[in-house]
Amino acid sequence: MSGTKAGRVPGLLPDLLLGDFHVHSTFSDDAQSTLAENIAAASAAGLRTVRLTDHVRGATTWVPEFVTAVAAERIPAGLSVLTGVEAKLLDATGAVDTPADLVVGPGGVDAVVIGDHQFPGTDGPWSPRATRERLDAGLSDEDALDLLIEASIRACERTPHAQLAHWFSILPKVGLDEAQLGDERLLAWAQAAAATGTIVEVNEKWGCPGPAAIAALQDAGARIVASTDSHLATDVGRYQRVPALLGAAAALVGAEREPTERERAR
Ligand SMILES: [Zn+2]
Ligand SMILES: [Zn+2]
Repeated sequence: MSGTKAGRVPGLLPDLLLGDFHVHSTFSDDAQSTLAENIAAASAAGLRTVRLTDHVRGATTWVPEFVTAVAAERIPAGLSVLTGVEAKLLDATGAVDTPADLVVGPGGVDAVVIGDHQFPGTDGPWSPRATRERLDAGLSDEDALDLLIEASIRACERTPHAQLAHWFSILPKVGLDEAQLGDERLLAWAQAAAATGTIVEVNEKWGCPGPAAIAALQDAGARIVASTDSHLATDVGRYQRVPALLGAAAALVGAEREPTERERAR
């Protein structure tokens, strides 16, 4: 491990927590706060950056209205307001459930926030239950994990301005554990995120991805952000699980960087 990483890890934590890259408003069916309430909450929490993010599907038509509404908000000094739409990963090809006319970039939203809400199957999204049934029927854990990583990499490759939301939250829902992924899969995933400029959240609501995945992202040079996935303004920018995950990841990177006495003696 190179010495440059030593300087990166301690500085990572405070800076990251000054952003909240996944905040829902009433444009999402299940969220309670307005855009203005979220912006005020972000400013009150001392954030520098907030990404206003709402759920879309292929059939969603209100994205231009959302972009116009955000542009009309008064932004407090010191706060940068970004936008995004959250859409689910659909299948093994890495397709994402966004409206066909979605504009990402100038005049549109700033990012496509991809959620692993369903398992990316070979023939479309598999619900957690359908995935467990396939695992019970003989799909091996290893093949399922490969499928998820392949789909994740393809989604990074084919989605400009992508951000992965609560990645690997699907695993416990299907009876699998992030620890089963192993270094090789995490490395391939992290390298794809870095190579494609895909942002990866460390998500407060879901408490994922875990320390090994975060460490892999850091090693690969991928961009990591913090998010609350808040559905209520009072949760914006408030972190408990994220600092713990980042701290555990930093300890892993540190453990690799500084060999133990026994390792030095070898
Ligand atoms: Zn989500
Ligand atoms: Zn969300």
